[in-house]
Amino acid sequence: MTVHFPFQNSYAALPDNFFARVAPTPVAAPRLIKLNRTLAEELQLDPKELETPEGTEILAGKSVPEGADPIAMAYAGHQFGHFVPQLGDGRAILLGEVVDKNGIRRDIQLKGSGPTPFSRRGDGRAALGPVLREYIVSEAMYAMGIPTTRSLAAVMTGEAVYREGALPGAVLTRVASSHIRVGTFQYFAARRDSEAVRQLADHVIARHYPEIGAAERPYHALLDAVITRQARLIAQWLLVGFIHGVMNTDNTSVAGETIDYGPCAFMDAYDPKQVFSSIDEFGRYAFANQPRIGLWNLTRFAECLLPLLDDDKDTAIKQAEAALDGFAEQFTAAHQAGLRRKLGLSTEREGDQQLAQALFDAMTAGQADFTLTFRRLSDAAGDSDDSKVRALFQDPAGFDEWAPRWRQRLAEERQTPDERQAAMRGVNPAFIPRNHRIEAVIAAAVRDNDFAPFEELIAVLAKPYEDQPAYAAYAEPPQPEERVLQTFCGT
Ligand code: AMP
Ligand code: MG
Repeated sequence: MTVHFPFQNSYAALPDNFFARVAPTPVAAPRLIKLNRTLAEELQLDPKELETPEGTEILAGKSVPEGADPIAMAYAGHQFGHFVPQLGDGRAILLGEVVDKNGIRRDIQLKGSGPTPFSRRGDGRAALGPVLREYIVSEAMYAMGIPTTRSLAAVMTGEAVYREGALPGAVLTRVASSHIRVGTFQYFAARRDSEAVRQLADHVIARHYPEIGAAERPYHALLDAVITRQARLIAQWLLVGFIHGVMNTDNTSVAGETIDYGPCAFMDAYDPKQVFSSIDEFGRYAFANQPRIGLWNLTRFAECLLPLLDDDKDTAIKQAEAALDGFAEQFTAAHQAGLRRKLGLSTEREGDQQLAQALFDAMTAGQADFTLTFRRLSDAAGDSDDSKVRALFQDPAGFDEWAPRWRQRLAEERQTPDERQAAMRGVNPAFIPRNHRIEAVIAAAVRDNDFAPFEELIAVLAKPYEDQPAYAAYAEPPQPEERVLQTFCGT
């Protein structure tokens, strides 16, 4: 059976120094673990075709579909603050782009599909665990309404990859509105190739920001637009307790999607200093540090654009600084509006942010679970019983002080309790991809070849805002012995 991909590749039409043409490396015995049928249909692909042995071979990189133009993209990046002039897709290959049902161009990329000219000393492969992790977390982010790359499929390769020991190999088919990163701009800027920076900027404008194509100063508008999307994205992360873990500039999408899920995690007990990556020694990418790092990454982006902003360097720098000044304001506006929604406040009053902060302080002191606190507050907003929220606090003193303040503030609202409850339940998820659940899914898959827990977790996380009584246990934080303290880069 022929598997049809309606490819319309635009990145591969850019100059040759933007990428390396390279085909995926065939693997021994591909086996389809998961196909995201809904996403396939959205991409105008036929799930039935993808589920055939031919489809599985394509998703494993064993054969290349017609119309594909496989490339590894070139990019650079600051990793933990240190600049690396050449990174690039070392274990990912962009098969091509399709235009989805909504007219949006989407990349279809295989991750773990074998070495490329950018692999350095890596093997170009991915282990099953990290592939399942990325599948679960990216789809959970999507279900929560947070911009993200998506997961179309996971396949096992039938080959081992060697990390701490031998692990089953796998390939993730990742879908993104593009895989262009801040680091892609840095690659050309570091080579002082302003013409390439301009071509890349024009490509990004046409693809992600068509509305600014006709702007008088399109590159200024591009900088503003990327800043806005990152500010909103990071605000959304903070509102659900997400820690990206490796916010390097090569993991920062200029389209404003969450990308490159490695050692990421959702917080259980609230702790703004929480770090998840085992390689993040100094808390650079700690939960509450993410806005600051976002701005740092955007500053690197602005530096790349300087030659396009003005011929006079000082003028260009001033203009870039003015644009970057907008980040804090936009982040704060998005974050504060989100916090009001989480607290059930449909209007804005003086003191709302202090009210939110006081809850966070109480949560920190009481080691309350971030997600459950807000979910149970949503339930409590429909009546006057705070006891189920209170029970989440090991030391409830702070909560006891806070709860009457919140009630008083709610009394100033015009929404009915039912309306408020419905609104809060629509923004405060019951189900997040908790780390101990992900680890259990991976253990079952890797140790026992059992993918039933993976399927069940994905199904639960697809409806994060609905109570699913049969799966109530998935909403629970880990027991002390289940707690996962850090996740490893898992490459
Ligand atoms: P990451 O930490 O996954 O964002 O990757 C950082 C850089 O290392 C990128 O250039 C990747 O392509 C590269 N890389 C990560 N893992 C591998 C691997 N197993 N083989 C080759 N390159 C890799
Ligand atoms: Mg990366």
